[in-house]
Formats: sequence, C-alpha cells, structure tokens
Amino acid sequence: MDAVTRIKTKTPSPYRIAAIDADTHDTKTFHFALPEHATLDMLPGDHLFVHATANGKAVKRPYTPSSLPGTVGSFALTVKRYEAGIVSRHIHDQKIGDTVLMSGPNAGGHWVDGMAKKVGFVAGGTGITPMIAIIRWILAKGLDVELFLIFSNKTDADIIFRKEWERDVREHRNFHCYHVLEQPPPGWIQGVGRVTADILRAQLPPPGPGTIVFLCGPPPMVEALEEILRTLGYSEEAVILP
Ligand SMILES: Cc1cc2nc3c(=O)[nH]c(=O)nc-3n(C[C@H](O)[C@H](O)[C@H](O)COP(=O)(O)OP(=O)(O)OC[C@H]3O[C@@H](n4cnc5c(N)ncnc54)[C@H](O)[C@@H]3O)c2cc1C
Repeated sequence: MDAVTRIKTKTPSPYRIAAIDADTHDTKTFHFALPEHATLDMLPGDHLFVHATANGKAVKRPYTPSSLPGTVGSFALTVKRYEAGIVSRHIHDQKIGDTVLMSGPNAGGHWVDGMAKKVGFVAGGTGITPMIAIIRWILAKGLDVELFLIFSNKTDADIIFRKEWERDVREHRNFHCYHVLEQPPPGWIQGVGRVTADILRAQLPPPGPGTIVFLCGPPPMVEALEEILRTLGYSEEAVILP
C-alpha cells in the first residue's frame, strides 16, 4: 500500500474545488481535491484558515473541515454565507474547478481517542462543523463512547446535515440528538427558544470523570453557555472549545 502524505502548510496554498453540495438555503459544503495519497494532518476538530483579499487587504478566517478526518484524496468545508461576510461570500462565489487559498491545519480544542466515555456537543449554526467531524470519527471507528448532541438553530430550514442526524439516531444506539429552534414549525416537540440550563441538564451526560462537552457557535452563545456549564458543575477542563 502507498504511504499517506499528511499535509500541513504555514503559508496559504491553493486547493481546487472538486464538488459543491447545497446543505441549506445559505450553507454549502465545498469538497476540495487533495493528491491521491494525501490527507490533512489534523485531529478531529482542528481548523484551517481560508485567506482572501478585500479592498487590497489580506484577510483570513478559520473553518473546521466537516469531512471525516483522515479521508484521503479530499476534504470538505461547510460554509454559511453571510450577506456582509467577506470570506464566507468569497468562498460561496467560487465554482467547481476554482481554487481557494488555505493554510493549516491548526490545532483547536480537538478530540483525541480515549479522552472520554461520554461526550456532549452543544452547537449553534455552523458551530456544528467541528462536531460533525468528531461525531463522524467516533461513529466510523466504532469507539465505545456515548454521544449527546444539542443543536441550536433559528428554524428547521437552518439545520445542517439534518438527514445525517436522523440516520445516526436510527443506526447508532450511542448517538442522541436534541434540536432547539428559535422559531419552530407547528407541532415541533423538541426544544424551543435558546439553549438553557434546563436543556443542558436534561440532554447532556452529568458532569464527572470521563465526561467532556464540546461547545461551538456564535461568540455570545459560547460565552453564555460556558458560564452556565460551569455553574452546572462541568470543570474548566471538561468544556472544550474547538
Ligand atoms: C475555530 C472556528 C471554526 C469555524 N468554522 C466554521 C465553519 O466550518 N463554517 C462556517 O461557516 N464558519 C465557521 N467559522 C466562522 C468563520 O470563521 C467566519 O467567522 C464566518 O464565515 C464569517 O466570516 P466572514 O468573513 O464571511 O464575515 P465577516 O466579514 O467577518 O463579518 C461580516 C458580518 O457577518 C456577521 N457574522 C460573521 N460571523 C458571524 C457568526 N459566526 N455568527 C453570526 N454572525 C456573524 C456579522 O454580522 C458580521 O458583522 C468558524 C469560526 C471559528 C472561530
């Protein structure tokens, strides 16, 4: 078997878009080509920087690959387009065959096999991207780990990877998923509004040895929930921000 090359760069390098999937009304997954025997040198949850130029100034923003870490020959970024967003609009403006400049991967708060037996994930919007990389990894490897996802969005049309969550709940007894919607459709039976202490208490494994919680989303959400998790008894080391 050919050896796998693990890619990590300090300077921006071009990556070619091989395919694009529409996930929701404002979010797409961009699949980038890697050489045949190459993978990104990253742990589940680590991120790349996407580089662009705006008004003659160099800008960069972090994006966590949503693809299964260790995939050879390609990786994917799932990106929500902000109307006024410099880099997210730049990525969405690209077509199949175009290249995007990226550096990294860089270490964030990531998953390492064996670090916990029970893992909570609290995600808002595109904060789901590190979570899906970690969840795909744990389920694909069949690790003996129980997973509890709380995913918060505005409406059900904003739920990224919805079909995959439904499939994972059906196919994996160790995967639990609870959606929270600010504006739920009629008949919605899961969470409504914002993620609260009561929702965290009911849906996450209780704090204790062998339990960690990944938290990722818009900065105000992360700030508020980090404090609530602390008051619920999760230690500083048990709460990981990718
Ligand atoms: C570690 C890490 C990983 C990330 N991974 C992803 C990812 O996989 N996919 C992804 O789509 N994004 C991800 N993000 C967010 C991403 O880095 C950018 O912040 C986002 O794409 C907006 O950048 P922009 O240049 O388009 O907008 P900017 O030009 O920076 O901002 C323009 C306007 O957009 C709005 N805006 C920007 N960011 C947010 C936000 N997060 N929430 C609400 N409003 C916002 C604000 O109103 C802002 O004024 C990640 C962030 C971090 C810290």
